[in-house]
Amino acid sequence: MKIRVVHLYADYLNIYADRGNIAVLGRRAAWRGHELAVESVSIGDTLRPDDFDLLYIGGGQDREQALVAVDLAAKGDAVREAADGGCVVLAVCGGYQLLGRFYRDRDGVELPGIGLLPLHTVAGERRMIGDVLLDCEWAGRTLAGFENHAGRTHLEDGALPLGRVVHGFGNDGETGFEGCRAGRVIGTYLHGPLFPRNPWLADWVLAEALGHASGGEPPELEPLADELESAAHVVSAERAKTRGGRF
Ligand code: GLN
Repeated sequence: MKIRVVHLYADYLNIYADRGNIAVLGRRAAWRGHELAVESVSIGDTLRPDDFDLLYIGGGQDREQALVAVDLAAKGDAVREAADGGCVVLAVCGGYQLLGRFYRDRDGVELPGIGLLPLHTVAGERRMIGDVLLDCEWAGRTLAGFENHAGRTHLEDGALPLGRVVHGFGNDGETGFEGCRAGRVIGTYLHGPLFPRNPWLADWVLAEALGHASGGEPPELEPLADELESAAHVVSAERAKTRGGRF
């Protein structure tokens, strides 16, 4: 099957190899006989809600977020319509912050978000940098990655976190939660990129996108060996244990 992917602002929001997540999805889809068709959509381009099964946004510095925020706000209706229609949305760090109501940067400038997730973010003085380990009870799995953000994200009423912080800062360095999940919409601070060391989440995204593409249920994907990926997860988790969550 063909999975239609829109990579939003790949030319502005792509730090810590966030675009690597698309490369991993492409390989894992191909190993199961599926194909990823990736379209890059950026400032001034049209976004049609029926044109994709998966929407992906990477992370970026305040400057790049300021360059795309108004354009993303103008695409907000299309993104919300697509998400209501069951497409998968994955956003990392700066992209995650712009899925909320707003991001107030370190200079107090408020960037509009699209309000797809019930949260808002306010930048603090000290950046939260380091390795992270999460416990995702909803999946019975852990997630390992790397965070670097000034933003403190506050989940609002009804918001579900992506995971509980085992090691690291997470959304705000206080609540012990990281990210946000609403059905097939996921936001997270985890860079790395995320998927090479967390193949289960890559497969979850792939299966949900295939479900959207077929108009049916997410299929059971044939398991892959993932030896290297599992080893990378263990190394990343160990680093989080020794170095995560320290200013
Ligand atoms: N600029 C945002 C912050 O500092 C997001 C950073 C990022 O995407 N890594 O919080």
